[in-house]
Amino acid sequence: MTALILDGKALAQKTETELAERVKAIQAASGSTPILATILVGDDPASATYVKMKGNACARIGMDSLKVELPNDTTTEQLLAKIHELNQNPNVHGILLQHPVPSQIDERACFDAIALNKDVDGVTCLGFGRMAMGEHAYGCATPKGIMRLLEAYNIPLAGKHAVVVGRSPILGKPMALMLLNANATVTICHSKTQNLEEHIKRADIVVGAVGKPEFIKAEWIKDGAVVVDAGYHPGGVGDIELGPLAERAAAITPVPGGVGPMTINTLIYQTVDAGEKSLVNK
Ligand code: NAP
Repeated sequence: MTALILDGKALAQKTETELAERVKAIQAASGSTPILATILVGDDPASATYVKMKGNACARIGMDSLKVELPNDTTTEQLLAKIHELNQNPNVHGILLQHPVPSQIDERACFDAIALNKDVDGVTCLGFGRMAMGEHAYGCATPKGIMRLLEAYNIPLAGKHAVVVGRSPILGKPMALMLLNANATVTICHSKTQNLEEHIKRADIVVGAVGKPEFIKAEWIKDGAVVVDAGYHPGGVGDIELGPLAERAAAITPVPGGVGPMTINTLIYQTVDAGEKSLVNK
């Protein structure tokens, strides 16, 4: 069996063409352009790169971004004040606070200060809870991007056994709930899980969100499984040993070009939606 490649890069490019049309329609109807505010705190080069990539994605679809850069010694109170200001700004339709923030900042408090209708990166507890209950909320960008990728390739989820390895607030946990809401039977594994290999061997769908290069071995994954790798590490490898699976899995997300492009694409997709709701469908 040759695995179907779940091509996130191609889907993201196709979606950008559609989003550019929607931005033009918003401009025609309202005379305004949706704006994503991006907040970068400190000088971490990887975070700066991610924020730049997000700004570039906005530009590609004709959307504006408002770049907020704060110094490394920013306090929780200062960051909260900035978020409140952006919440109040009617010209801003989405807010991205780049994770991680410097350690003196209460990141959870700052995430949760983002207004629900501007939480286009899906990071608030309120948004998570609403999503978990099947109510409308913008999904957390990486797991939502994975769901959009699986949907685009008509990967069946109902009744399947999904094993999510990782339970972080921005990835593993919302991923598990989204798969549950799509009627998968979900096992969540983490650093205290015993017999990880045995859990993974039973999976119809494996999601690797561990943060360790090729930590999940190909031999743990059964033939015909759908393999989703959220990781990205130097050398172009993910959290799963994908090489041997190209001939054994039903489908795999390549690294790079699978999950990564879908994360940014979901952020701008949800910002366009927020812009439409605010500017057109008032
Ligand atoms: P994280 O916050 O470090 O979480 C890692 C998770 O893996 C934790 O839940 C941890 O368990 C679990 N884990 C660690 N060691 C384990 C072990 N030996 N066995 C089983 N589980 C173990 O990482 P993250 O932010 O979720 O990111 C995960 C991966 O996705 C990383 O490779 C990251 O680069 C990637 N990522 C990609 C994107 C993208 O846009 N493509 C976005 C975000 C993240 P505990 O909870 O018990 O500590």
